[in-house]
Amino acid sequence: MQTLIAGNWKMNGTKSSLEEIDQIVRGLDTATTETVEALICPPVIWLTDCVARCAGSSLKIGAQDCHEAEKGAHTGDISASMLHEAGASHVIIGHSERRQDHFETDPLIARKAKAAFTAGLIPIICIGESLKDRQAGKANTVVLSQLAASLPQMAPDAPFIIAYEPIWAIGTGLTPTLFEIQDMHAGIRAALSAQYGQRGAHIPLLYGGSMKPDNAADILGLEDINGGLIGGASLKARDFLAIYAEAA
Ligand code: PEP
Repeated sequence: MQTLIAGNWKMNGTKSSLEEIDQIVRGLDTATTETVEALICPPVIWLTDCVARCAGSSLKIGAQDCHEAEKGAHTGDISASMLHEAGASHVIIGHSERRQDHFETDPLIARKAKAAFTAGLIPIICIGESLKDRQAGKANTVVLSQLAASLPQMAPDAPFIIAYEPIWAIGTGLTPTLFEIQDMHAGIRAALSAQYGQRGAHIPLLYGGSMKPDNAADILGLEDINGGLIGGASLKARDFLAIYAEAA
């Protein structure tokens, strides 16, 4: 399985930030390895610019959300097929910021994930516990129940990715211990194997939450970790490429 280093720019940057894409493309020209894939999910307004700048490069471009419906009266929303047509390869679904800011629920996330792969995108489905859940010793129960309820009804071979992102680690500089990350990923892997059999072993599991160049090697070296979903450190090409290099 390839390792995926995925950047989530969230609602950050200006048009001049597209120079970071150029720098990543240049960096990957010399650093690309077949074992590691690189993906940036910029604000959707820059998706087509980013796709154009990546032509001929191994860098892939994704989106940060999509609507569950294929089309219709949904002012301000964007469908998965529109993203696909614009050149996106992946879409992040159910990020904790969407769960919080837009009250997204597990069943909605499952429907969005289904819409994504129906349109030809690979959904990156995010799950993760709050600090309160972790302190109460409920992290594994909460995450595994989110996982079960967020998985789409789909064809057996439809591709998807799971990102475990403890909410309290996102953008805070805090991370779980390596043991806690590994333990959670092993639980997620076991649940996927129970549900999908052999295929469960091949569903990529990303870790997200304050991954930086200086902790990436330790986290990415854990068993059952197939890459990272990176927020803040993906905004600067230098940091993103440094994390990529740790994975290579
Ligand atoms: C994220 O938002 O998905 C994330 C992991 O952010 P950060 O790397 O900034 O914690």
